[in-house]
Amino acid sequence: MRVLLVGAGGREHALAWCLRKSPLLSALFMAPGNPGMAELGTCINIDVTDIAALVRFAKAEKIDLVVPGPEAPLVAGLTDACDAAGIACAGPTQAAATLEGSKAFTKEIADAANIPTARWERFDTAEAAHAFIQRRGAPIVVKADGLAAGKGVIVAQTVEEAQKAVDTMLTRGDFGSAGSSIVVEECLSGEEVSLFAFCDGTEAVLIGAARDHKRVGENDTGPNTGGMGAVSPPPDFDAAAQEAALDLTVRPMLAEMQRRGTPFKGVIFAGLMLTDAGPKLIEYNVRFGDPEAEALLLRLESDLLPILAGLAKGAIGDLPIRFSDKIAISIVIAAQGYPAAPKKGGVIEGIEAANALEGVKVFHAGTSMKGGHLVAEGGRVLAVAAIGDDLNDALTRGYEAVGAIKWDDGFYRRDIGR
Ligand code: ATP
Repeated sequence: MRVLLVGAGGREHALAWCLRKSPLLSALFMAPGNPGMAELGTCINIDVTDIAALVRFAKAEKIDLVVPGPEAPLVAGLTDACDAAGIACAGPTQAAATLEGSKAFTKEIADAANIPTARWERFDTAEAAHAFIQRRGAPIVVKADGLAAGKGVIVAQTVEEAQKAVDTMLTRGDFGSAGSSIVVEECLSGEEVSLFAFCDGTEAVLIGAARDHKRVGENDTGPNTGGMGAVSPPPDFDAAAQEAALDLTVRPMLAEMQRRGTPFKGVIFAGLMLTDAGPKLIEYNVRFGDPEAEALLLRLESDLLPILAGLAKGAIGDLPIRFSDKIAISIVIAAQGYPAAPKKGGVIEGIEAANALEGVKVFHAGTSMKGGHLVAEGGRVLAVAAIGDDLNDALTRGYEAVGAIKWDDGFYRRDIGR
């Protein structure tokens, strides 16, 4: 099969690494890819949201399957454009990707399908939201409806903080159209986990679960990031609990989306809060998480290509989908200054030595080649993934690999999995 993988981060490098192992793969193109991915196939310089150019390329190269990594091309309609061109795409249509693109839509689906979630209201005017918050009191959560790169959710500890968030979104319009409508919801407490499943429109097959570390600093301090590392599975969320949560939070969503004529195909990522009253849905994402994918995919024992091709066709039911019982982790190495002002340009060495360690795989995220050297492009630069018999074993391997990488401007959290 000829495959076009869309994306350029650690998640996409991990997907490419799995696809490369498939005996069914005849050619792998990646748009735009990164230097790590370039070792596995051909990188082409097309932006992930340039849907017309992606489809033109796929047609010209007789691509059998398009594999989207991030959400942006899905929300922009990549799958719909592929469908129209007769090319299979392993991701949701634009309508189904609304599960990630609109928080109010997700809440509507949750209510319609009886999925446990925080009680909520949607508001388009500040006055109504202010009155609601005044009545409900704090803590309370204010969310911009649309995509806001992780900055659109305020877990307010006081009424004043919540009112300020409302004003920022609805009165000042700081989030643009993403914040022209908001969701105000009950504040939940508990541990968070991420649940992943392959979906073919009607069926969901469990991939597994992970927990990521969002804050930049150790002991969960400092600003939020795209994720500084992950553990799969989280020790307090075993396979039976994952299957039960899938029944509660994913399968009813699939049935409801199908009933509405917008079936969901692709990888679903359900963000859950494990409350005293059981798991509750916080959000859906319509693709793998990053850095969760780097850990999860290290545990995949089956061939990824027929799974993705099967879900694109609407038929994954009979495929063997096996994951190792071992524990996998990912440790992100980011550039000094991340997330505010990451330093660019430092030379990175030692990746080969790290990759030579057993159970370790280094995935590129923000790297580039300059003058024959691998350099940091800024942000999250590498994701070091490791698999072991237990958490300690995986962490020991992972941190040994991190130690083998020579890059003066990099930093990482030393408390992943703790
Ligand atoms: P954005 O759209 O800005 O990218 P996001 O998709 O990251 O935001 P969510 O995942 O819905 O937004 O929320 C971000 C975080 O806020 C969650 O991981 C969780 O920690 C917290 N959060 C969200 N909803 C609630 C809630 N009802 N109660 C407590 N915490 C919550």
